[in-house]
Amino acid sequence: MSTIITKDLVCPGCKTAAETTLWAGITADKNPEIREKILDETLFDFKCPECGYSARFLYPCLYHDEKLGFMVYFVPDGCPGKDGGDGICEKFPQLAGVKKRLVCSPEGLKEKLLIFEAGLDDLAVELLKLAMADVLKTKYGKNTEAGYFCYADEDENKIGFSFFLEGMDGPVRRVTKMDAYQKTLEIAGQAAFDGGEGFISVDENFAKKVLDEYKA
Ligand SMILES: [Zn+2]
Repeated sequence: MSTIITKDLVCPGCKTAAETTLWAGITADKNPEIREKILDETLFDFKCPECGYSARFLYPCLYHDEKLGFMVYFVPDGCPGKDGGDGICEKFPQLAGVKKRLVCSPEGLKEKLLIFEAGLDDLAVELLKLAMADVLKTKYGKNTEAGYFCYADEDENKIGFSFFLEGMDGPVRRVTKMDAYQKTLEIAGQAAFDGGEGFISVDENFAKKVLDEYKA
């Protein structure tokens, strides 16, 4: 279900109110152009028609890919881990088998699309990122602030990421073998977490917890 909200935003530059379209609900097959905007990171760009002032304007939105069976709920300003989506499956039984994820940044939203569209398991990807951040820490002596999945190529046996390290400008790109992903996929498979409830954040912290339990 696509949901569009029209809202008057006051331009911080010239104080003119400009009518802006907000995509509160996005459906993958009905809004391919919006999917593109998520992927090229322009969905939340605001540009004032009067003075040309541009900025990023973040608002909550729900992305649904019915064919691939996943939903990603973007809520700016932090992820509580699990949102008020509790009981959503009782209200919408048709969503019971759908993967539901909560993300708190546009980059996180984009990443989930890339992961699920590539047919990958997002927990396994998070676990792999943890392992790669450890390697980067050894190599550069720096902590990883963020890491994002970029692509997977089964034929070439490659999976690519970009990492942002503290105190370094620009991303560090890293490619590893899909074999490494297969290993983290095994761990992810043992972490029988229930995806049937509300929206959950399968992020770095979630992966750390899973890893701690696995090692215990
Ligand atoms: Zn303006």
